[in-house]
Amino acid sequence: MSAHCCDHGHEHASAAAASPVYRRVLRVALAVNLAMFVVEIGAGLAAESVSLLADSLDFLGDAGNYAISLFVLGMALHWRARASLVKAASMAAFGAWVAITTIGHAMAGTVPEAPVMGVVGALALAANFGVALLLYRWRNGDSNMRSVWICTRNDAIGNLAVLAAALGVFGSGSGWPDYLVAAIMSGLALVGAVQVTRAAVAELRHARESGPQAVGSL
Ligand SMILES: [Zn+2]
Repeated sequence: MSAHCCDHGHEHASAAAASPVYRRVLRVALAVNLAMFVVEIGAGLAAESVSLLADSLDFLGDAGNYAISLFVLGMALHWRARASLVKAASMAAFGAWVAITTIGHAMAGTVPEAPVMGVVGALALAANFGVALLLYRWRNGDSNMRSVWICTRNDAIGNLAVLAAALGVFGSGSGWPDYLVAAIMSGLALVGAVQVTRAAVAELRHARESGPQAVGSL
């Protein structure tokens, strides 16, 4: 459930860019992930469920990766690194907001609406498997069945954690299963944002050192 698990296309940049069908698939994947990001935030706020809010972080990170694959991948390294920094910064901001909201809910003893968590968690699971099927079916040449599988498995673990939290809340009448899952997932998202930032900063340094044509306006 790492926040930046679905990194399709980076290894096969030129091939992916050359295939209009694969680009269309990436656009659908981007749209589904953005839509589910919005749906989970809306449902999380309406049902007062912080684990739904935390699960939406993965959709945000994956949408960022698809956007980078589609629009930035063919560009120079320092532009890709900057796009990654923007992604990491927005994930860190959302992750921090989810973490703070989780602490607030834990202190207030907020009990989320378990049925909404269950329905939206199941929808998120279906969306992730739908995107995985699409990517697998239209995978580009030697492209990465393994990375699609790892990404989908990690996303499914997050979705199942939300479903488990829904069951826990339903069974116990307490919000703690929700807070616990949200704390773990927002923590992972923050760690992921730090890792992406570190890698992007290293890439920017590399781009600066590798010659004047790659410098740009740092
Ligand atoms: Zn993911």
